[in-house]
Amino acid sequence: MVTFSNRKGYKLNPNTLLYEKVRTPLRHRLIGVLRFLLFSFAVTVLVVWFYTSVLGLELPKTILLRKKNTEWTSKLELMHKRLDAVQNTLWGVAGRDEGIYRNIYGMNQIDPERRYSGFGGVNRYDYLEDMGASTLLKKTIKRVDFLTKAAYVQAVSFDDVFAISRRAGDMASCIPVVLPMNPSSKYRLSSSFGYRRDPMNGRTKFHAGIDFAMDIGTPLYSTGDGIVEKVTFDLRGYGVQVIIDHGFGYRTRYAHLKTALVTEKMRVKRGTLIGESGKTGKSTGPHLHYEVLYRGHAVNPYNYLDFEMETSEYETMVSQASEASGVIPPSKLPGKK
Ligand SMILES: [Zn+2]
Repeated sequence: MVTFSNRKGYKLNPNTLLYEKVRTPLRHRLIGVLRFLLFSFAVTVLVVWFYTSVLGLELPKTILLRKKNTEWTSKLELMHKRLDAVQNTLWGVAGRDEGIYRNIYGMNQIDPERRYSGFGGVNRYDYLEDMGASTLLKKTIKRVDFLTKAAYVQAVSFDDVFAISRRAGDMASCIPVVLPMNPSSKYRLSSSFGYRRDPMNGRTKFHAGIDFAMDIGTPLYSTGDGIVEKVTFDLRGYGVQVIIDHGFGYRTRYAHLKTALVTEKMRVKRGTLIGESGKTGKSTGPHLHYEVLYRGHAVNPYNYLDFEMETSEYETMVSQASEASGVIPPSKLPGKK
């Protein structure tokens, strides 16, 4: 039996006399969905607008983000305080490094430019601009970099101090303390350290060393262990001169020699024969101009020299030094005393 019903979504087919399901075209269905979406969107926008602009309230998401932001800002501020402490400690270490450790071994001060400057490179922090980092974040990152570099410089400095401290036992034999010639040789202190009238032109000039007047050809010896840094000849200045680097900040200069008997880079002991006195260069008479330089500055050699040293002790030192270097000292040469 056919039941007549008027169910929605069904339609009577006059040919078959059967109710058949009405098929809505796909286009109509899509339009319907789109309409629904547009309507929902409009309602959402309206609600958000009403909530934020009219009522002046914040969306839960905004509240959450604001909270997170505050949290991160305070974390960064806390980090800055910790960096203050790190910096204080680091500067304390650097101060002790310069004032004590490097000082003990006569090492030069580290260039403050190097010690207290950050990393170079103009575009180093461009990426921070690109990611829209806050001023505080940029400041923090730059500071971490700055302290990282300072710590690196400090570590390198300690490596240098450590390397030189392993030779600390040698320090006593490196410091230039003995006379540059045998105490028994004929010599006279002809000019002292400091300001004096230039014997050549009469003008007041700083004399960076002391002069020992002595006969040409007097044997001269290194006043401490070291390495020959320079052997040069200058017609107008120091004449034939030898400069020895003793390490620990000390260097000595022996000028106006007749001959130098050492070569650059040669290792010498205290008492090694290095040359013979003369009157080469700007010199009024035969003499040795002797300088002690500490960290590149001339200091008064008189304060270092041991004038009390016995001749026998000096000669023992010379023969030991020559044994160490395999060179026969002039006193042992045939024909000498
Ligand atoms: Zn001089």
